[in-house]
Amino acid sequence: MASGSYRNGGIGGGAAPRLSAKLDRQNSGANATPRSSAKSKPPAGGFRRSSSGPLPSSSAAGKGDSGVPGRVRVAVRLRPRNAEELVADADFGDCVELQPEMKRLKLRKNNWESETYEFDEVLTEFASQKRVYEVVAKPVVESILEGYNGTVMAYGQTGTGKTFTLGRLGEEDTAARGIMVRAMEDILADTSPDVDCISVSYLQLYMETIQDLLDPGNDNIAIVEDPKTGDVSVPGATIVEIRDQSSFLELLRLGEAQRFAANTKLNTESSRSHAILMVHVRRAIKGKHDIELSFSGENGHATPMVTSFRPPIVRKSKLVVVDLAGSERIDKSGSEGHMLEEAKSINLSLSALGKCINALAENSPHVPVRDSKLTRLLKDSFGGTARTSLVVTIGPSPRHRGETASTIMFGQRAMKVENMVKLKEEFDYKSLCRRLDIELDKLITENERQRKVFEDEVERIRAEAQSCITEAERNYRNSLENERLKYQQDYMDSIKKLEEKWMVSQQSNGNDKPRSEHNCQCLEKACSDEVPSASASDELTEVRKLLQNEKILRESTEDEVIDLKNQVLHWKKLEAAGNAEIIKLHKMLENEANQKDKLEEEIAGLKSQLLQLSVEADETRRSLDRGGSGKIFPGLDSLLSQAKNSQLREQGNGPKAPIAKLFEQVGLQKILSLLESEDADVRVHAVKVVANLAAEEANQEKIVEAGGLTSLLMLLRNSEDETIRRVAAGAIANLAMNETNQELIMAQGGISLLSMTAADAEDPQTLRMVAGAIANLCGNDKLQARLRGEGGIKALLGMVKCGHPDVLAQVARGIANFAKCESRSATQGHKVQKSLLIDDGALPWIVKNANNEASPIRRHIELALCHLAQHEVNADDMISEGALWELVRISRDCSREDIRMLAYRTLSSSPTLQAELRRLRIEY
Ligand code: ADP
Ligand code: MG
Repeated sequence: MASGSYRNGGIGGGAAPRLSAKLDRQNSGANATPRSSAKSKPPAGGFRRSSSGPLPSSSAAGKGDSGVPGRVRVAVRLRPRNAEELVADADFGDCVELQPEMKRLKLRKNNWESETYEFDEVLTEFASQKRVYEVVAKPVVESILEGYNGTVMAYGQTGTGKTFTLGRLGEEDTAARGIMVRAMEDILADTSPDVDCISVSYLQLYMETIQDLLDPGNDNIAIVEDPKTGDVSVPGATIVEIRDQSSFLELLRLGEAQRFAANTKLNTESSRSHAILMVHVRRAIKGKHDIELSFSGENGHATPMVTSFRPPIVRKSKLVVVDLAGSERIDKSGSEGHMLEEAKSINLSLSALGKCINALAENSPHVPVRDSKLTRLLKDSFGGTARTSLVVTIGPSPRHRGETASTIMFGQRAMKVENMVKLKEEFDYKSLCRRLDIELDKLITENERQRKVFEDEVERIRAEAQSCITEAERNYRNSLENERLKYQQDYMDSIKKLEEKWMVSQQSNGNDKPRSEHNCQCLEKACSDEVPSASASDELTEVRKLLQNEKILRESTEDEVIDLKNQVLHWKKLEAAGNAEIIKLHKMLENEANQKDKLEEEIAGLKSQLLQLSVEADETRRSLDRGGSGKIFPGLDSLLSQAKNSQLREQGNGPKAPIAKLFEQVGLQKILSLLESEDADVRVHAVKVVANLAAEEANQEKIVEAGGLTSLLMLLRNSEDETIRRVAAGAIANLAMNETNQELIMAQGGISLLSMTAADAEDPQTLRMVAGAIANLCGNDKLQARLRGEGGIKALLGMVKCGHPDVLAQVARGIANFAKCESRSATQGHKVQKSLLIDDGALPWIVKNANNEASPIRRHIELALCHLAQHEVNADDMISEGALWELVRISRDCSREDIRMLAYRTLSSSPTLQAELRRLRIEY
């Protein structure tokens, strides 16, 4: 009984959260027809007509340049009763009743009648600031980071929490941080200060005057409209670049102090002025559009070449956060003098906003944008190109029923306004030109450097060759001169020797011939005689020897000369090669110069293309403004649109539409693969689709077989987004109704993942899902010890401190399941030990809630007590903790007869309890 009853609390049951608003948003991107854009021509002011019909589907921001329809999303937030209301309204019920899971709000007309309104999100008084940020502003911030404009605005009576929702700094308690602070945190986390630029302006609009909250002297800022594009800006406002969160907080503090000072001076209060924070995000799109450089060249010489001239792309988007003046002043203008003026001008701005929204909601041909400064400033936010999210704040007090009703109606009308969300992307031609100039300078410098290197090298080779030639010639000359001198010397020496020898022989022969004649004859004889005398023959031999030496010397000199000649030849060849190299280098230089000329021509061409492109861009923009649509995320959109369609059928026509058909058509694997998508939006939608499928018993086995359970557990482990964790826990809770799946969940560490999720959760609905999942696991006999060992019971008990009745009911169900299994195991003859629930300290909580006024909690606890009391081992603890009294009460008063009887039987069969009752003389 216990496990079956959970279905109503599960994700897929009647009260479960449906596929969220974001699903709608994706839906119309690919296959839904843009409802208004194709048909209606935008009025000149940029405000557009809305589509008709109750809840037009909006659309995701398109990736292309053309806009896609995106309806203004509206959430309603209820403020908790304050101290005054707790006293003054103590005897009255709240004038509204919220049904967050149906996204509905009931406004009581009187005791019998109420009106029901649907919103994109309904945020109860328990909704955390984190959840409010996630459903209201986070999708807008994500769009900003992708390059779309966005607006987040709060509307409502003074004191209902507009500033609380948007502007809280959360200094003393970080959980209280409002939308402005959280938005900047996300923006800074996703951007890099080196390449992206985040800047902020902070303004106040009071009595049709715009004041700069960052520069007190600047108190009458003009709104400027671009005549070409119609874009509105406030160039006179101070813009401060933001590089980190602390400087942003400092700036908000400064703005707030300035707002206070300005309002004191003007003798007013901030609830009468509109505060406007503008965050400008400028992002460079990196990668494919950058200039590509390649290096190539002969002989390994690198030559830089620019191969692509696509200009870089920048995305310039703007987030506008508007804290409006209190809406009650629209109707109350009975004041006089200054107050009257003020009331009129507040009336002017707010009522002009109301009129514009009415005109847009009703497709009126004229939208009175120019009637006030507020509507001029918000031109892009309603009917323009921005993604807009509105939170309307209301209080619970029946005394302000009229204000609350008019706030709700404002929100309802705003839901009919459709924007054409457009990517704010443009080519950054200026930066391309700058970069090309730098590249060109680099190329020219490189070219000059190489040329100088070549020239130096040529000069060096030439000088080297020249010095070698000079050296060789000098060596040649020296050695020739040496040889010549040596031969001359040798020759002289030989003549001298011969003369001496001849003299000696003359003296010894005593010849009487005239001496001179004889001398001559002898010498001739010595030189030419065929038959020489012995001494002459010696001399001859000597002379021959000398001649022989001389010949050898001459030969070696000749060899040396040949060698030197060869060397000269070699150097000449080297010189010729050097000259060829010089010619080649000259050619290369010429090529470089040609390339430089070509580059310069290409730059000139680009500049003219730039001119041409900007003309074309203007034309395209104008033609887009006349109408057009874009397609986005075709794959996912078709999938999600099917999910959405089946969802709508489910809502509309009583019998449940076959959502199972969804994964027959789309393929379960494909849906499961989207759980790991890079895109957080896609993950959120995918987990919601899986949760819806898991609610059908028929799908559960297929989901587990396809690995869906493992993927869901992974989401609990890894996802930082609480919505994803909440929905995943709900899906796991549904899967945990089946015994096989329960074992699988335990085997994959499910208990510790669920405990971890509970510890991090801020939203009671997350805790409800986790408690539901553990409660189902508690109903499995085989898993008792393990579940307790891994901290399952402690995790359940830990969740009771949240106090939400839905969570407590799931905890009570888990405890009842656990106690029932323990008593079943005992009746099957297993060894009976003291209950693990008692060991883990559950008894005091059980006793305290045994008479809880919420009947689901009470019933489960009553059953748990009966099961625990069936075993004597538990009896002493039950007596000491006061559980006996509760059992007696149940056996007497419980309105369910079966439980009453069970309590009675249990009491009667326990000797220990019997003895105690007798001791106390209690009848039962
Ligand atoms: P508004 O800006 O609409 O005039 P405030 O944001 O100043 O209203 O809120 C009025 C009071 O109500 C403040 O004291 C604020 O702290 C409190 N308050 C508003 N919303 C909440 C909320 N959701 N939870 C708790 N207190 C709130
Ligand atoms: Mg305020």
